[in-house]
Amino acid sequence: MSTIIYPSPIFGPVHSRRLGISLGINLMPADGKICTFDCIYCECGFNKDHRTKTPHPTREHVAKALEAKLKELKTQDIHPDVLTFAGNGEPTSHPDFAGVIDDTIRLRNEYCPQAKISVLSNSTFIHRPKIHEALSKVDNNILKLDTINADYINKVDRPTQPSYDVNRIIADIKSFNGQAIIQTMFMKGETEDGTNIDNTGEEFVKPWLDAVKEIAPREVMIYTIDRETPDHSLQKATHEELDAIRDRVVALGIPCTASY
Ligand code: SF4
Repeated sequence: MSTIIYPSPIFGPVHSRRLGISLGINLMPADGKICTFDCIYCECGFNKDHRTKTPHPTREHVAKALEAKLKELKTQDIHPDVLTFAGNGEPTSHPDFAGVIDDTIRLRNEYCPQAKISVLSNSTFIHRPKIHEALSKVDNNILKLDTINADYINKVDRPTQPSYDVNRIIADIKSFNGQAIIQTMFMKGETEDGTNIDNTGEEFVKPWLDAVKEIAPREVMIYTIDRETPDHSLQKATHEELDAIRDRVVALGIPCTASY
């Protein structure tokens, strides 16, 4: 198994641990990865190893490809549970993200009204009014918040923008007034160069829980490494550790799922 660069703009459907039968929408080019994070656990690999040479798919291209795929699935009697914006990077960085969301809602309503629309985002553009508004329209606005420890973020999520400020991100997620799902990666061990990246200890979990409580999201999804990671020495959090964290979120009155 190795890291994966997804086809663009449509891939799948795939079976997702968290989302069911998921048709993927990848707004990045098919020849690499573009992200405002450079996570050491990214299933697409490190940014430096996957520079793109082609442009983003246009809004029109995405709509055409999505409509063709939804028609094809309908003839095969396949009904996606979810249309998921994910793939080779940060979907909200697409120059016409808001327009793509409007098209996707229209096509979903026409071809598979039962399907939910999910966006997996690293939260770095949610302060932009157009992005905020677009994410407010989708069923599952899934926003990454791996920790609130700035040092850990710089070691693990590695934002490419020097201005990244986790406190601003927390305030921005809060501004969705509960219409957000927080997604958090827990893992253990060390990087290949010996940096400890275990965020399952109390010094990480307690402040993160305090932030979750303050944000009051609709739901929390916690998970651990499932696929090949570009840094090969990372380790999974255990079932027991994830279950214990999940139970503490649930005790706050917030639904939480753990994926192993
Ligand atoms: S935010 Fe997602 S796509 Fe971007 S580097 Fe991290 S895991 Fe990869």
